[in-house]
Amino acid sequence: MDGQTHSLLTREIFGNVSSTSKVIFYLLSLAVVGTLAWGIALRARLWRMGKPNTERPGWRIILINLWKLVFLQRRVGGRGTASVAHFLLFGGFVVLSIGTGLIAVEHVLASLLGRGPKDPVFHKGLYFAVYEPVMELAGLALLVGCVLFACRRWKRPPEIGHESRDWLLLSLLVTIGVTGFMLEGLRILREQTPLPGLSFVGAIFAQGLETVGMTASGVAGWHSTAWWLHAVMALALIALFPFSRLLHAIAGTVRLAVGIEPLGTLSSVPIEQVEATGEIGVARVEQFTRRQLVELDACVSCGRCEQACPAFEAGKPLSPRNIVQDIRGHMEATFGWRATSPVSPQFQTGGTDSTAARSLVGGVILPEALWSCTTCSACVDVCPLGVSPLGFIVDMRRFLVADSQLRGSPALALQKTDRTGNPWGMSAQDRMAWATDLHVPTVQENPDCEVIYWVGCAAAYDRRLQKVARSVVKLLRAAGVNFAVLGNLERCTGEAARRMGDELLFQQLAGKNLETFARFGVRRGAKRIVSHCPHCVNSFQQDYPQLGASLDVIHHTEFLSELVRAGRLKIPPGHSAATGIGATTVTYHDPCYLARVQGVTAAPRALLKLASGAGNLVEMPRHGRQTACCGAGGGRMWFDDAPDQRIGRSRVTEAIATGAQTLAVSCPFCLITTADGLAGRACNTAVRDVAEILADGLVSERTGNADTPETSHGF
Ligand code: SF4
Ligand code: SF4
Repeated sequence: MDGQTHSLLTREIFGNVSSTSKVIFYLLSLAVVGTLAWGIALRARLWRMGKPNTERPGWRIILINLWKLVFLQRRVGGRGTASVAHFLLFGGFVVLSIGTGLIAVEHVLASLLGRGPKDPVFHKGLYFAVYEPVMELAGLALLVGCVLFACRRWKRPPEIGHESRDWLLLSLLVTIGVTGFMLEGLRILREQTPLPGLSFVGAIFAQGLETVGMTASGVAGWHSTAWWLHAVMALALIALFPFSRLLHAIAGTVRLAVGIEPLGTLSSVPIEQVEATGEIGVARVEQFTRRQLVELDACVSCGRCEQACPAFEAGKPLSPRNIVQDIRGHMEATFGWRATSPVSPQFQTGGTDSTAARSLVGGVILPEALWSCTTCSACVDVCPLGVSPLGFIVDMRRFLVADSQLRGSPALALQKTDRTGNPWGMSAQDRMAWATDLHVPTVQENPDCEVIYWVGCAAAYDRRLQKVARSVVKLLRAAGVNFAVLGNLERCTGEAARRMGDELLFQQLAGKNLETFARFGVRRGAKRIVSHCPHCVNSFQQDYPQLGASLDVIHHTEFLSELVRAGRLKIPPGHSAATGIGATTVTYHDPCYLARVQGVTAAPRALLKLASGAGNLVEMPRHGRQTACCGAGGGRMWFDDAPDQRIGRSRVTEAIATGAQTLAVSCPFCLITTADGLAGRACNTAVRDVAEILADGLVSERTGNADTPETSHGF
């Protein structure tokens, strides 16, 4: 209905488009759909080179994940302009795609029903009155999103990767958006149907065209040209999806649809599989799982992980983004997608190209990069696409350990753990030395206990940390908790060994602990395990269930908080004044494995406010789930770094900057590393566990004496 005004509220589909143009467009569309399908199939073939994943989520879970993680973009927020730009671009693109799809449906239905161009099936009336402004808003959102992304890219923040083809993609999207509005402006001018209030952006374009001298009679040619430009650009964009950075939208959707594992989880290693294949860990790219290979393509190189990585911040040769991108390049080279692929020269082997001939571990990814990771999970937590650089790192560490490529002090710690059941290499007979005068009952002496206090190797053998265990005992007694310890039967959980890559040692230690648990009826619903170590808690919660265990485990700050709320643990009103802590300020360092991995941030703060007074707690800039790593996790505790090269040194600086006299912690590893970091620094900050602060001044039920408050970290 060229040049005519509808009495019906609608607009003609394919108006001013000749029959020949329509046929060419159909053929091009078919070719583009074919290219898209071919590109996805090629990529899927690449992903299928990996090991099959054992767990497969059901369809209900997949649909929920698609809704929450993909459609609602739950993991994208929280990054200021970058998040806003992504929401606008994604939202605009999705709405425009759905709108274009609806146009196609209308066109096919109308053709099947033999309707003419003036007689649409549903593209009219109220539907059209909603459709048109929604599409205009979506087009605007897409353009604003592109402009915001362009501004960010122009400023070149160090965290985002810079590739010239990204500019091409942005230009393509902008051209599609602008030609879309231009097309609508030309249509309005040609048909003289402004649809006021509906095509509000198109109407502005129409006015602009009129002011430059265009008239209704002379725009048909321009309209036709703009239509083809818009159509070709849109089709090119669709065809480019599998071959450009836009691939992340396809791979990311696949990745997010299967769900995100809880933080702190590592992939399981079935021992039967190890025995059958003789392989452990990943030395070749095809040994990663299919899900991991999808993750490589999902990574959009946004740099969030790099920004969050404490090892990168400390100048270690580790960038989680580069780990993922370099493995991706290696995957493509190995499977023949392209002959060479770039390797990040500053972090990797120093070359500028990688080929399939280069080994993955040692050739593409340096062991130094892998050993720099503290397994803090910050990279996994911030990745909007569900990529786990940590998962890749631990898999490759497993290979390095199995291949005897770990040397020096960390290797010695593993040997000691293997020999004696603890990384300190001390005798199991000395496990109760910390409690000689406390008469702490063992589980043999008190088999009917409700709570097992898991002391852990650090508090059993490290003289400073023994004070933490003694404080916990004092608090449990003050609250009248019926508890016992495993004493000489306790072994290292194997948490650090597992994260260092020694899976066999972990399984051996876990097996022994599980035997002890079974012997004394420690299982969910029968006895609760309380531990002051977030690493042990996480291992019992995430690692041990992979070996069939079902345990009820809780961190001491949460347990003590429960006791306070239940009125069983009473902190006297004058406690902060009596112990002197009320006259000082306290800052609290959230351990990664407690705050980020387990989400426990309120309980320790509630206890600290109770012990030191609500107004005395000052926060560091990075706190709660966004805490900064102390540098000891993932076996880094056993690496001999020079003081100026330690990963947690910026954290110590942050703590000193608060001016607090007490740095409260709730993890034995954090206590050791922060105390080490503070030693030699010009400050009067002492590190203390939350339990120590709380136990100060409490009258021990057993002795009837108040323990002397400890005022320094005592190293
Ligand atoms: S792994 Fe995730 S956070 Fe890191 S660069 Fe890739 S997409 Fe961004
Ligand atoms: S787990 Fe932590 S240290 Fe390791 S790569 Fe990720 S952010 Fe960096």
